[in-house]
Amino acid sequence: MTADGSADPRRRVPRTDTLLADPPVAAAVATHGRDRVKAAVRRAQERARRGEITPEGVRDAALAALTAPAPRAVLNATGVVLHTNLGRAPLSPVAVAAVVAAAGHTDVELDLATGRRARRGQDVLDALAAAVPDAGAVHVVNNGAAALVLAATALAAGREIVVSRGELVEIGDGFRLPDLLESTGARLREVGTTNRTHLADYAAAIGPDTGFVLKVHPSNFQVSGFTSAVPVRALASLGVPVVTDIGSGLLAPDPLLPDEPDAASTLRAGAALVTASGDKLLGGPQAGLLLGDADLVQRLRRHPLARALRVDKLTLAALGATLADPVTPTRAALHADTAALRARTERLRDALAADGCKAEVVPAVAVVGGGGAPGVELDSWALSLPESYARPLRTGEPPVLGRVAHGRVLLDLRCVPADADDTVRAAVLRVSADG
Ligand SMILES: *Cc1c(COP(=O)(O)O)cnc(C)c1O
Repeated sequence: MTADGSADPRRRVPRTDTLLADPPVAAAVATHGRDRVKAAVRRAQERARRGEITPEGVRDAALAALTAPAPRAVLNATGVVLHTNLGRAPLSPVAVAAVVAAAGHTDVELDLATGRRARRGQDVLDALAAAVPDAGAVHVVNNGAAALVLAATALAAGREIVVSRGELVEIGDGFRLPDLLESTGARLREVGTTNRTHLADYAAAIGPDTGFVLKVHPSNFQVSGFTSAVPVRALASLGVPVVTDIGSGLLAPDPLLPDEPDAASTLRAGAALVTASGDKLLGGPQAGLLLGDADLVQRLRRHPLARALRVDKLTLAALGATLADPVTPTRAALHADTAALRARTERLRDALAADGCKAEVVPAVAVVGGGGAPGVELDSWALSLPESYARPLRTGEPPVLGRVAHGRVLLDLRCVPADADDTVRAAVLRVSADG
């Protein structure tokens, strides 16, 4: 800082008419109207005068203030199909259209034929039930954790949930299933050990206080070696309800993921209730699915807590569309043809080379992600660039997220919509031009 007034940053705050003539700001006027933009510019100027932002930052601060706060759309080139930090499953175009169509007034709780109140989202629940005929009834709540909380509260509050020590998992961001279950007032009766639990362990723990036996699919880790777990079919012989948290939301078996439990097979094996997420392998919106014995589902549905966990019309719309057309982007990414991925990546490399940007095409390994199928590796291909590209790609518009490994950033196109390859190309070129 000098005593010279000309160095006072407040003098360098750009004038309103200068800012309004700036092309991005002028473009914002066309979208948001002159008054809103002017007000945003004034507020940014005041912030600069107070020293909260630099005079050079006024324009961007004004533009940022005009942008509605929302999660930003990004391109997932990580090769992780279900990435919780990136919002897990992307919705299919039909699901997006259904969300838009449901955004206004809807018949979500009204029977148009009789004019009477109807069960919320009846058509969508019917579609879910039809997709899993082994379920006597179904219910949908806010997410997988909510489905478990509802089951624990309605069926085991003040009683015991018998569960293997090998299945007391942390689901992410520090949240642990045992804490979640105990928060309902149910007591956990842990049986077995981390690596081995036997049917006799369960049998010895079951008594008059048992609410249910819980079986949790370890969806984000694998144990190998000297291990033993009890299948649902055997647990079902114990004479108490078996609640199975399959996690991933596969409704029927997928040959690509042979170790991933699905709702239909789990119910057929004797589970009284299955819980799962909607935004993992099902490829739909965030939701918690509850499928199983009609009486149990009815108890969950009528429990007061169900009202606090209910899904909104947008979720129901997206779920219904996903069930009607199960060829979701998640499914497409999982089953993507490796040769076609390689050809796409090579085309991208060649297009970049034509503009003087050198990149390599390398074999890569994609994974399903925290949403399911730990240990399953999908052969893939990636565009390999210097690691220094990672940050500018991530902070660009749109942000492009790759995977950093061994001093390189790898862009795997498996989860990038095919019509976005050109956007990736442009993003890489911008970084290459700046570098
Ligand atoms: C993902 C998962 C959960 C949590 O589901 P959310 O939809 O994220 O709330 C619970 N249990 C298992 C086994 C999971 O895989």
